[in-house]
Amino acid sequence: MREFGYRRADDVHGAVALLDGDPEARFLGGGTNLVDLMKTGVERPARLVDVSRLPLDGIGPSEDGGLHIGATATNSDVAAHPEVRRRYPALAQAVLAGASGQLRNMATVGGNLLQRTRCGYFTDVTMPCNKRLPGSGCPAVEGEHRNHAILGASAHCVAVHPSDMGVALAAFDAVVHYETADGAQELALADFYRPVGDTPHLETALPTGALITGVTLPPAPVAAHSRYRKVRERASYAFAIGSLAAAVEVRDGTVHDVRLAFGAVASRPWRARAAERVLAGAPADADSFAAAADAELAAAEPLPGNGYKVTLLRNLVVSVLTELCEEAAR
Ligand SMILES: Cc1cc2nc3c(=O)[nH]c(=O)nc-3n(C[C@H](O)[C@H](O)[C@H](O)COP(=O)(O)OP(=O)(O)OC[C@H]3O[C@@H](n4cnc5c(N)ncnc54)[C@H](O)[C@@H]3O)c2cc1C
Ligand code: SF4
Repeated sequence: MREFGYRRADDVHGAVALLDGDPEARFLGGGTNLVDLMKTGVERPARLVDVSRLPLDGIGPSEDGGLHIGATATNSDVAAHPEVRRRYPALAQAVLAGASGQLRNMATVGGNLLQRTRCGYFTDVTMPCNKRLPGSGCPAVEGEHRNHAILGASAHCVAVHPSDMGVALAAFDAVVHYETADGAQELALADFYRPVGDTPHLETALPTGALITGVTLPPAPVAAHSRYRKVRERASYAFAIGSLAAAVEVRDGTVHDVRLAFGAVASRPWRARAAERVLAGAPADADSFAAAADAELAAAEPLPGNGYKVTLLRNLVVSVLTELCEEAAR
């Protein structure tokens, strides 16, 4: 067993100071991903700075009338919070669709955003993998890629981001707040994950040593009428093979406001902006929903083994938007 140091931080500044920008050190949230990766040797930190007990677990109104969710709020607390359930139901549903009750009780918001891919080559240290060992190659392109990306990937990495929560956060324009030695800063979730390009090992735009302190959801009346639909290979306790966070508001038969984000199709939660543009002002019917999905998925570049995801996502868009519109009309 590899020895590592462990310190528990008492406050935000102390946590940042303890980590001290050391690339060999890691913050420890609930540990449900990091500790697993340490057991298999994918992660080999010299030091852990435990941030799970920082007073960052609050969930409440933000200054602009939206909702702030602290970074150490557990996934269970997020899913159960009455304001999340009332104002952003797709977020509660997305969190509840992930992992198991025990894991959600431990897992934190910050850790969920930074969880690593479930690509089997990444988690197997005997295999090459550009994300784990830059320059070693990507065996998934020619090998097992059934669950891999169809959008925004590159020849250097075709892995998907596994978070369900992140998909709903992407749909609702979440902003990620973080702290470094230079003070508090923020990043739109849209800019949080870096494009894959030829650097799949560089996953986010966070500076080294940054502590995520929370996320804010801006006010979005449309989000109150939203849904998360996850498709997976068994009914529970499985990662998505495709998912959709959707919200829609219809006025006089046309789409007044719509939010769409896809999960398990890219290296990040995929905001479907091309589809949203097609739907703006369009008749709220199945033909428009299909045209919108087609517009987004026109950019898809499936591999030989995962073309099914194009059909899956198209069907998700049509069925979930149809459901939401029918419910609103009742
Ligand atoms: C069996 C199993 C099934 C799962 N199924 C799903 C699923 O279906 N859907 C899904 O979305 N997820 C699923 N998960 C993943 C789970 O959601 C993540 O493991 C969890 O959200 C990670 O949160 P954590 O607090 O435990 O993170 P940790 O494991 O503590 O940390 C993860 C990463 O985040 C960093 N980190 C943690 N907190 C901070 C912070 N505040 N600031 C900066 N960096 C930080 C750590 O350094 C580490 O790199 C599953 C996990 C398991 C083990
Ligand atoms: S898809 Fe990405 S994570 Fe998987 S083997 Fe290729 S480089 Fe590694």
